[in-house]
Amino acid sequence: MDWSTLKSSRKLLLGTTNRKKLIELNAHLQPRGFELLTLADMPSFIDVEETGTTFLENARLKGKAQSVAQGLWTVGEDSGLCVPALAGDPGIYSARYSLQPGQNADATERAVIDQDNNDKLLREMHSVPDPQRDAYYVSAIVLCDPSGNVVLEVQGQCWGRILRQRRGTQGFGYDPLFEVIEYHQTFAELGLNVKRAISHRSCALREFLRQLDVKLDR
Ligand code: IMP
Repeated sequence: MDWSTLKSSRKLLLGTTNRKKLIELNAHLQPRGFELLTLADMPSFIDVEETGTTFLENARLKGKAQSVAQGLWTVGEDSGLCVPALAGDPGIYSARYSLQPGQNADATERAVIDQDNNDKLLREMHSVPDPQRDAYYVSAIVLCDPSGNVVLEVQGQCWGRILRQRRGTQGFGYDPLFEVIEYHQTFAELGLNVKRAISHRSCALREFLRQLDVKLDR
């Protein structure tokens, strides 16, 4: 594998349009000297269908498609919330949990979808007793070279539990319902600094950077 172009340019495309995810990824990658490009910086970009059966498969699909389309080193990320009491749901369908089959997520405002997803989660968990409300977030992150080869892949997890009503206004997605047990607060109450220390995405990114350091001979 020829790492020289990444070594010299330190330019990485983040293959997502989720602004909140970008902020979290940026918080780790920018201080390490990477110049981050987003899909919004590109003249045009493709919408990748998430047809994988795991977070890792979907991260690979996103990373590969965008890196080939843009000819850039690209980070692909896929994440979601898994609730063991719901047999792992919403899982890889976290972003579109409340959508009808065939309904286009892009046509609807992301904040509105998040609201509906949280409402559905509350309904589905209505009769789940407190001791069984554990849940975990997963983040799968891959790095693809400009030809679409996956050259690095990692996963991170973060455990918490699902509340019976929303708390907090920060974060995104299921954060208002996801309580971090050690803090007695949700990710939406705790905000970016705590998320940066303990979230699934941060755990994955730390391992990602550790492995990348080795590849780039730092
Ligand atoms: P993706 O963009 O296909 O990876 O979908 C990720 C979805 O999982 C989001 O739309 C959220 O519903 C959920 N999710 C992933 N990470 C987080 C997080 O850090 N907080 C809240 N929800 C998240």
